[in-house]
Amino acid sequence: MDISQILNELGEDREHYFNAVAPPIMQTSNFVFRKVADLGKAFEDEMVGYLYSRGVNPTIDILRKKLAALDGAEDCLVFNNGAAAIFAGIFANIKSGDHIVSVAKPYTWVQRMFDVILPRFNVSVTYIDGETLASWQNATKANTTFYYLESPNSWNYAIQPIEEVAAYAKSKNIITLLDNTYCTPLYQKPIEMGIDMAMQTATKYIGGHSDTLGGVLCGSHAMMKKIFDSEYLNIGSGIQPFNAWLMIRGLRTLTTRIERITQTTEEVVRYMKQHPKVESILFPFDESFPQYALAKKQMKGACGLFTFVLKTRKREEIVKFCESLQHIMMAVSWGGHESLIIPKCAGIKPADFNPDVVEQRYIRMYAGLEDAQYLINDIEQALSKIE
Ligand SMILES: *Cc1c(COP(=O)(O)O)cnc(C)c1O
Repeated sequence: MDISQILNELGEDREHYFNAVAPPIMQTSNFVFRKVADLGKAFEDEMVGYLYSRGVNPTIDILRKKLAALDGAEDCLVFNNGAAAIFAGIFANIKSGDHIVSVAKPYTWVQRMFDVILPRFNVSVTYIDGETLASWQNATKANTTFYYLESPNSWNYAIQPIEEVAAYAKSKNIITLLDNTYCTPLYQKPIEMGIDMAMQTATKYIGGHSDTLGGVLCGSHAMMKKIFDSEYLNIGSGIQPFNAWLMIRGLRTLTTRIERITQTTEEVVRYMKQHPKVESILFPFDESFPQYALAKKQMKGACGLFTFVLKTRKREEIVKFCESLQHIMMAVSWGGHESLIIPKCAGIKPADFNPDVVEQRYIRMYAGLEDAQYLINDIEQALSKIE
């Protein structure tokens, strides 16, 4: 289906709500029945009829249809945030005694789940760089049931050969989940590459305005139904109608925003690369990127996030640079209208800072919807303040 049709029409039965262009927010907890038999039917399968908004809700269903189509998936569940989507996708598919293979340094709360929560249930995790199929094969044990991928990673943009890993996993009955937040389905379609579950944080590009959280999990209908009947209903972490409505609104402008951000990112990266106070840049579509060829092969685009290292080896100078920015703000998250910066050293005590560990000098930037030159001017004046 054409992407314009997905974003503007799919799932929107406007004749059901006075032909309004924008869908209503079905702000209701429950739904009424006239016939006992109909109520009984709704009890049988909460995923098909409207019974109670912890399950399905008409506003959320519009969003589900659009997001499933964007990913080329049969079905989709939308959660209250990305962390919940990942948690449910993993938890529904593991049992005591299982082993997971995961890319190194997955998103913070995934790492927390693997290191703190899963050991309590006798589930172990092996971390690998994941850059070759062999690294997955070598880490796989007799009790491996799950592969966790994040491609690209949201700090160093490390990527995995998705099609090869997915095909191998299938041959071993191993379930795969890929965090696709960096690319969105516009630039990478994990389901079409053989991955079982494609996850993305709607908090980032889908919402696009830094005003709401959401998490997307796409896959086969059977997989989504399995998760819906257990973790989704039990944890009760589905997105709420108003937030779903904001996500639908975000989707209207998704392609336009991504196009603009792609262009701006390229311009800012080009500027940073030639600056004498910048030591290196990490960006998957830059020729210096170690996995540039694989990035070009499996991603349609790269945008928004990149990381740079300043030549200075002093923590105070990194701090001074970040605090000198006047328009680019310092905050976690990304994908909104506003450009952001976050230095890795914020999470490292000054006494522990070691400039020889290059990751400790990482500064991650997200280029938002401002003019490229406006951002470059801000970076330029901040760079002029440091040695
Ligand atoms: C932000 C983020 C998440 C978590 O999403 P939330 O909506 O904040 O829970 C997961 N993965 C990646 C790569 C992210 O950037």
